[in-house]
Amino acid sequence: MIERTLFSEEHRQFRDSVRRFMEQEVAPHHEAWEDQGYVDREVWRKAGAAGFLCPTMPEEYGGAGVDKLFSVVLFEEQFRINASGLGFGLHSEIVAPYLLHYGNDHIKSTYLPSMARGEMIGAIAMSEPAAGSDLQGVRTTAIKQGEHYLLNGSKTFITNGWHCDLVIVVAKTDPTLGAKGISLFVVDTGMPGFTKGKRLKKPGLKAQDTSELFFDNVKVPQQNLLGAEGSGFASLMQELPWERMQIAIMSMASAEAALQWTIAYTRERKAFGQEVFKFQHTRFTLAELATEVQIGRVFVDRCIELLLKNQLDTATASMAKYWCTELQFKVLDACVQLHGGYGYMWEYPITRAWADSRVQRIYGGTNEIMKELISRSL
Ligand SMILES: Cc1cc2nc3c(=O)[nH]c(=O)nc-3n(C[C@H](O)[C@H](O)[C@H](O)COP(=O)(O)OP(=O)(O)OC[C@H]3O[C@@H](n4cnc5c(N)ncnc54)[C@H](O)[C@@H]3O)c2cc1C
Repeated sequence: MIERTLFSEEHRQFRDSVRRFMEQEVAPHHEAWEDQGYVDREVWRKAGAAGFLCPTMPEEYGGAGVDKLFSVVLFEEQFRINASGLGFGLHSEIVAPYLLHYGNDHIKSTYLPSMARGEMIGAIAMSEPAAGSDLQGVRTTAIKQGEHYLLNGSKTFITNGWHCDLVIVVAKTDPTLGAKGISLFVVDTGMPGFTKGKRLKKPGLKAQDTSELFFDNVKVPQQNLLGAEGSGFASLMQELPWERMQIAIMSMASAEAALQWTIAYTRERKAFGQEVFKFQHTRFTLAELATEVQIGRVFVDRCIELLLKNQLDTATASMAKYWCTELQFKVLDACVQLHGGYGYMWEYPITRAWADSRVQRIYGGTNEIMKELISRSL
């Protein structure tokens, strides 16, 4: 296998401690969390205490001020054991960066330190019942009235939506304009008129709380506007390459883990008097998948290198999101097949990872939207 060259000794030590945390504090509880439909709040506080939330935020806001490779390690270790219930990535690597990059001092000092400690959980609400891919079609409005904005509308499919203490809401401040009428707001659960809907039932990501959110005449103070009025769409576009890479990074970690589980399983399982691994079909299937996973790994690591230098463009990040999520699903589906009937039993990690992987092609911008973006660069 081609050696990875991204990480330093410090990253490797960090990986060891994240791995211990995942094995001791997450793995033993994940099944119970799947059954209840959400992870316990306690694991957020433990992760915060261990320094595993918002690590790239500056120290003055509770982070460790480290580079994004530490975040990469966190994603990889989480998906090595398929701890898909933890909404840490969205909280630390999507919500927190918006607050840091576009928030005023009040927003940064009110929310970021509590988020880093795991005392407040963040979410981002773009999608609505009638607008997902077509973000310009959002109907939630935030109309200025003196010192505050009056927020009305509803959101759906929101990750961390049931647990969240604060949510970045995409709303139209000027419904007569398209993209230029979109703004971002930090709304917290203490604001009257903000209610959460039920946790949505899903075929995978069962421990991850995904909810509807409702805003009924919520008075959002002017100081909770993120960036300038009308700049929301541009801010969203700015953050997208890293958000898309996060999904690609999870995909590769998941595909690599699935291959290892399947090699181990087929070496143990016997049929017709021999290891399932020894059938030529099994070996060739695994050889093909291992080749593609290796290709994906090299591509993703190169994209991460570019990202660290702020040189990763939207089209390439979209290629990574699209191609790696398709590869992940292909690998997991083939690995389920090689597990036979056990591959369809929930107690097997391959089964859960397969169910969890399907949505990777849908959220974060569907893969069809990724192809749109790629084609615009051709
Ligand atoms: C588990 C889960 C978690 C999520 N978490 C969040 C979250 O935290 N925050 C949030 O805001 N959203 C979240 N989402 C929503 C997600 O981002 C949207 O579902 C996604 O963007 C697609 O939007 P849609 O569901 O409205 O589908 P639609 O936009 O209605 O798309 C339907 C189909 O049409 C295709 N399509 C649409 N437009 C085009 C086009 N121009 N060209 C070609 N094909 C097109 C799509 O690719 C898709 O196949 C989550 C979704 C899920 C399932």
